Amino acid sequence: MFRLRRQVYCDNNATTMVAPVVRKKMNRVLRNNFGNPSSLYKVARSSAAVLEESRLTVARAINADPAEVFFTGSATEANNSILKGVGELFFPERKKIIASPIEHASVMGALDYLAGKGFSIVYLPVDGMGRVAPVELERLIDEDTFLVCCMLANNETGVTQDIRSLSTKAHRHGALMMSDCVQALGKIPVDVRQMDLDYASFSAHKIHGPKGVGALYVREGAPFTPFIHGGHQESGLRAGTEGIHNIAGFAAACDGIEVSLGKAGAIAELKRAFIKGLTGIKPDIVVNSPFDSCLPNTISITFPGVSNAVFMAMLDFHGIAVSAGSACNTGDDKPSHVLKAIGLTDEQARQTIRFSFGAATRELDIRYILRVIGDYFSGRIPPVDAVSPTHLDENFLLDERTYILDVRFWYDRKLIKGLPNSNEIPFFTFNKHLGHVPHDRNILVVCQMGYNAPVVAYALKSKRYRNVGFLMTGLIGWKICYPELYRKMAGQNIRKAGESSR
Ligand code: PLP
Repeated sequence: MFRLRRQVYCDNNATTMVAPVVRKKMNRVLRNNFGNPSSLYKVARSSAAVLEESRLTVARAINADPAEVFFTGSATEANNSILKGVGELFFPERKKIIASPIEHASVMGALDYLAGKGFSIVYLPVDGMGRVAPVELERLIDEDTFLVCCMLANNETGVTQDIRSLSTKAHRHGALMMSDCVQALGKIPVDVRQMDLDYASFSAHKIHGPKGVGALYVREGAPFTPFIHGGHQESGLRAGTEGIHNIAGFAAACDGIEVSLGKAGAIAELKRAFIKGLTGIKPDIVVNSPFDSCLPNTISITFPGVSNAVFMAMLDFHGIAVSAGSACNTGDDKPSHVLKAIGLTDEQARQTIRFSFGAATRELDIRYILRVIGDYFSGRIPPVDAVSPTHLDENFLLDERTYILDVRFWYDRKLIKGLPNSNEIPFFTFNKHLGHVPHDRNILVVCQMGYNAPVVAYALKSKRYRNVGFLMTGLIGWKICYPELYRKMAGQNIRKAGESSR
């Protein structure tokens, strides 16, 4: 956005680049198979053929029968369908779901929803690495339990679970077993039969396929009821015209899984070298991912004393893409529930970064990341000032030497009024308006939650602005610190970029 130096993408758990073979397959299907697979003529039959061939390929990738695979719009939809659909079938006779506390937001959100409807949701304890001990399930499970839910691999730390042991215990007590296998597919072998699963969820965009398509595995004979009603598609279990091009792309991506699995060892080697290099730079880092029982590509690291917002902005400025946690929680002010569940404090969670390597990651990339991080900790990369919201009292806000740059999105501005005397420049078009930002004042960049402002602050530093800071915790934090001042002054004298300044 602001610069294009070297780009190193280390956020493959958030999403992956669409593979060229997938793109080609999708283009072909878009060109040749526009027919609605539910219709009865030749053009439609060719679409139905693509759909069924794709189902076969996806089923083969997870060792399922094609009749057990249903396409959805995402894994989020698949998870919601399982939890709410199966829940509806058992409620109110049986109310209890036992789940791991480190599930993805799409599971946690659905569980919260069900708790609000009167279901009893019980969380399994995990150890400091997020591992569930199957013996704990034995302690918690009872006749009221109809479903046990545990992801195969966690998206934030990479920890993997012994799903087979959990399924065995669930079944022994008459409960069903579901597993979110989204992050595992393509990184470790996934076999729904070996794990003895009743339900599982998958997503194409984590395996170099397109976004907007997922798959739901429902074991033959397992109870299920549709979550989306309407048409008779997907054997009546998921209504809505199938996105054939996306589904074909998903299947093409599944064709690449064997190759991806073959690269796992090399990626794990890179991860080991990376941890070693980081420990040399900053010996007090804490690795939150286990060394065994872990995805080969994922590593969660706490950098004591370093705000992950600032650190990510610095890395982003150097072309390195990483996450603080799950992509689905980016922009959420709450510290990660996964990191909290494994015992990190709020502060430690806010000092934690996830690196997720991919098939394209090279040793050269690792060396580059280590060089940038080394330069940061040795002071060769100048830091931007992280300004606490407590500093922004009335005197500060009226100080003419400070130029407040508000880079929030229009929808954030609707929720919280801006600081008095601030200058609005939207984050995505920031570069175009740079000429309006004065060089002779202290610049304070503000955003809603403190994640986008440091990115802009780093960009300004590179443009030779000398005194640049950003508001930690964003306007949300300031409003909490100074509710009176917010009522008295927020929203006053706000200018769009380029309007005359005070
Ligand atoms: N489950 C896990 C473990 C994930 O990591 C994700 C995506 O981040 C999802 C589910 C949701 O997948 P989708 O983006 O297809 O809704």
